[in-house]
Amino acid sequence: MMLSLSRDGVASGSALKRAAPSSFDNPEGETSKKRFKEDLGNEPDNEKPIAKLNYEALADDLIQELHCGCCAELVYRPVVVSPCQHFFCGSCCVLWIRNGGTNCPACRGISTIVTPSRPLQSIVDIILRADPSRVRAERERIQADEIYKPGCSMRIPTPREASPEPNLNQNADYVRPCPHCARDNAFGWTCPQSVIDFGVDPERAWHLDDGNPPGHAFCGNCENLLALRAPSTTKCDFCQVSFCGIGVAGRCLAAPLLSQHPHNMSDVGDLIQSSEVYGCFDNNTVEVDIMLDYLTAQELTPRHIYREVASHIQSQPSGFRPLIELDLFVDIHSVTAGIDENPNAPRNRICRHCATEVMLWGIKEWWIRERQKGFLEETVTCRPDCKEGSSCSRQKDLGKEPAVWRKMTC
Ligand SMILES: [Zn+2]
Ligand SMILES: [Zn+2]
Ligand SMILES: [Zn+2]
Ligand SMILES: [Zn+2]
Ligand SMILES: [Zn+2]
Ligand SMILES: [Zn+2]
Repeated sequence: MMLSLSRDGVASGSALKRAAPSSFDNPEGETSKKRFKEDLGNEPDNEKPIAKLNYEALADDLIQELHCGCCAELVYRPVVVSPCQHFFCGSCCVLWIRNGGTNCPACRGISTIVTPSRPLQSIVDIILRADPSRVRAERERIQADEIYKPGCSMRIPTPREASPEPNLNQNADYVRPCPHCARDNAFGWTCPQSVIDFGVDPERAWHLDDGNPPGHAFCGNCENLLALRAPSTTKCDFCQVSFCGIGVAGRCLAAPLLSQHPHNMSDVGDLIQSSEVYGCFDNNTVEVDIMLDYLTAQELTPRHIYREVASHIQSQPSGFRPLIELDLFVDIHSVTAGIDENPNAPRNRICRHCATEVMLWGIKEWWIRERQKGFLEETVTCRPDCKEGSSCSRQKDLGKEPAVWRKMTC
């Protein structure tokens, strides 16, 4: 399958960094393909393969889709923003507005009104009945209900005319307090070690040269100051950078591993434009194009690949250690990262940038596993390959049976 259009050895540094440990042998490929064909034979109308409804996967996907764009948890008392129809927990939306958020937190579209969503609430209720372990802790629910009164509609303000704030009391050399530093802040949690604003007391303000103020760090996304122990703060277990949960909804966030979205990878078009993706395939453009066609036909997104890669790595005995040892997650953000104290610590939360790293690291192996499922059409799998045939080192990558190589015409 591998037509070597590119010169050998052009793989970029990052692609080398990502080269996954090879497990390209394909003992399963042929049999799984056969199995698939037998399944088809049992269908009365076998013109099109009808996949059996996988209820577990369905429930899983549904739950993932119902995660709030702000807090990345299963949405609680959902509200929908009009006209874009993005939804969030009512309480997340209120906090967003209180913190000066304007427009929809997800798409930044101008919103006319935010209303509670009965249909979404019904689906969430069904999920919670089926899986009570997903019900939020009582304390959390009480807190959220205090912030957002169930059933209320509201408005997200549109940005005011840019006001030329004089900010005479600002000084760029000093740290601005975090949203939790003020004693009467709207977030229900106060920093035990508040940072003093330069405008309030220049003598006691914290100079940027002195590093992070105690108990604080800078958000890996919006780069504002955050309190490490604030309930809205999350830490990426890969790059060890913290995220404020307040600046930009859904982006200032290290989300639970499988609910994160890889940064800059929302659709197949982003993969096409990414030179790194081609790098992952040693610049074998033909193979990448076959994969992209497949993704388009199957309506698979980069996020789907990311999630499959991440679950696959999780299922391996070594987990994410090989990736961490490659320093894949070092110096990803421009803010200072925390220290990864325990290499064996579980990796539960991930930021968007690290999610992209994980996806790129595993995309080639993912594609090989995907091909071995035997879903590709014969016209694709039997395409003539490069002139060297089976002696080409790249042929091996996709685990073709030697018998198929011999038939090749190139
Ligand atoms: Zn939320
Ligand atoms: Zn929106
Ligand atoms: Zn603070
Ligand atoms: Zn932030
Ligand atoms: Zn990260
Ligand atoms: Zn070749």
